[in-house]
Amino acid sequence: MSEDSRISRYDWMEAELSERESRALYREMKNLERPPKAGELGSAGKWLYKGGKRLYNLSSNNYLGLSGDPRIAQAASRAQEQWGAGATASRLVCGNHGCYRELEEDLAAWKGREAALVFANGYMANLGVISALMRRGDAVFSDRLNHASIVDGIILSRADHFRYRHNDLEHLEFLLKKHDSPAQRKLIVTDAVFSMDGDAAPLHQLVELRNRYGALLMVDEAHSGGIRGPHGEGLCHEYGLHEQVDVIMGTFSKAFGVYGAYVCADRVLIEYLVNASRPLIYSTGLPPMVVAAAHEALRIVRSERERREKLRELSAWFRQQMHAWGLPSIPGESPIIPWLIGDNARALQTSSMLAERGISAVAIRPPTVPDGEARIRFSLMATHTRAELARALESIRAVAGEVQEVGR
Ligand code: PMP
Repeated sequence: MSEDSRISRYDWMEAELSERESRALYREMKNLERPPKAGELGSAGKWLYKGGKRLYNLSSNNYLGLSGDPRIAQAASRAQEQWGAGATASRLVCGNHGCYRELEEDLAAWKGREAALVFANGYMANLGVISALMRRGDAVFSDRLNHASIVDGIILSRADHFRYRHNDLEHLEFLLKKHDSPAQRKLIVTDAVFSMDGDAAPLHQLVELRNRYGALLMVDEAHSGGIRGPHGEGLCHEYGLHEQVDVIMGTFSKAFGVYGAYVCADRVLIEYLVNASRPLIYSTGLPPMVVAAAHEALRIVRSERERREKLRELSAWFRQQMHAWGLPSIPGESPIIPWLIGDNARALQTSSMLAERGISAVAIRPPTVPDGEARIRFSLMATHTRAELARALESIRAVAGEVQEVGR
């Protein structure tokens, strides 16, 4: 290809990237410089090596600190020896190794539901469920702050998309009333804990609306699975609502420290998904070693309650400290603790200033959050200690002072 034709084909990309850069919205992937050493595996993810620096990690979704747990790594290597590296085909062709069924049976029992289905990841699970359950002409009612994979699932389904204001039940009911045709299937969908705000959905009231308007209710437990509920079942379970939510979805990529995702529901709904969910049907199954790792993580999540308790205690304390210092945040009980900044460039600069002081905390900017709501998203892990976090908070406080100075 000649140089000239390349310029004319790709110049719109260059232009768009420059425009993003000018609004402090350009994204880049920074390399991690070294993996944890053998002895450090148990605390994997707590320290990151970036830009020649060791950084204390306050930006991971590895909430229970399980990503480096040697028991999970061993389960993966045993499965790899037994089954090899890949599933080799879709689960509907010849990829459905026994380890899937074993995991799905345990998932269903853990969640107190008839059946479960494993998906490649949370993104695919949301895409696969919503696009299978809803059709053109149906109506999906979705919280404005729901995760991008939910939004993409709705787009793929071609159903009408009604976004209600965040956790605003009056607005949701107004929309449900307005679009209450018996010919339409209706789905209400929400994150249980919101990924960027860290607050929780009003699940009791959502169940009431589901009952009143004959809608299906789907809850994404990506940030509450493993963390909430007596055995880490999630927020639906903690509130005793798990039997009244039609689809409970969760991931293995966050608190479980692995990869993959699941959906728990009545058997008929799961059977329907096996027949209609395109990301499940037309994509290769997860590697058996990943399934085995997720299964071992499930065993640990169910039995090691102390990890949840420690995370809860650390999160409450961290929030309290931020509040005491007047750092603007959003009330909640989760380990996701936003520091609201507003301006994109200021959020990026705050993140770099934190890195200079040895802390990794990413700046979250639009479109991940609404315009004007850029922030630093702190997320805590059960493997953090109060003493380490106290030191980190000192640095955060110092950076807050410097940012204010710069902003004057
Ligand atoms: N749902 C929510 C609420 C999420 O935050 C995420 C991940 N960021 C996903 C789904 C997608 O999960 P996964 O990373 O397993 O694809």
